[in-house]
Amino acid sequence: MPPRKRESLKERRQRVKNVILVLSRIYPLATCGLVYHNSLELLVAVILSAQCTDVRVNQVTPALFTLYPDARAFAQASRGELEEVIRSTGFFRNKAKNIQLCCQQLMTRHDGRIPPSLTELVKLPGIGRKTANVVLGEIYGLQGVVVDTHVKRLSCLLGLTKSEDPVKIEQHLMKVVPEKAWNLFSHLLIYHGRNLCPARRPGCEVCPVVRLCPAGHKKVFS
Ligand code: SF4
Repeated sequence: MPPRKRESLKERRQRVKNVILVLSRIYPLATCGLVYHNSLELLVAVILSAQCTDVRVNQVTPALFTLYPDARAFAQASRGELEEVIRSTGFFRNKAKNIQLCCQQLMTRHDGRIPPSLTELVKLPGIGRKTANVVLGEIYGLQGVVVDTHVKRLSCLLGLTKSEDPVKIEQHLMKVVPEKAWNLFSHLLIYHGRNLCPARRPGCEVCPVVRLCPAGHKKVFS
């Protein structure tokens, strides 16, 4: 059934549960697409993934992590050399600067380790809530809603938020997505955004959640 105009919070929560159920069947392996072997590698990979595909990041990181195996190595790296290694991920100057400043602070404040706290992580240069939530979810198993470009777009299409602000979107989603599924829900929307609901051509006609999605329902059944 299409969501009614004045959907109650209870109804919206149920609709979200159904979206999770359907998308989980289609994307049973929905998880982080970045290849990493420890928390620092994940943190660096997430920084590199801004405006870049996971595939491209995964092509760059084996050499990168061989050259710079820990926070100290990144902190002491030649900026120019670091920029060259990550150049193909785009925005490489800014990314190199953030990685290096971040690792310098990890060395001075956290003994080179990644702190398991959202508050501490977002104090690091170049680390926003999205990156912090990915790291906390993947490494420490803590639940958090990751709002990337796909989650932002699909949350709006699914009628779960009207906001453009990632922090507000995160809050809106935390109210309607069961806490135990915060990480999963983000992964599912990212997979769905990449596969069937890209920004330019959402495939509403063949989308398995069309009856649960106000935007798709309007397009297909009106
Ligand atoms: S119905 Fe259309 S807009 Fe809604 S999630 Fe599916 S593809 Fe995207």
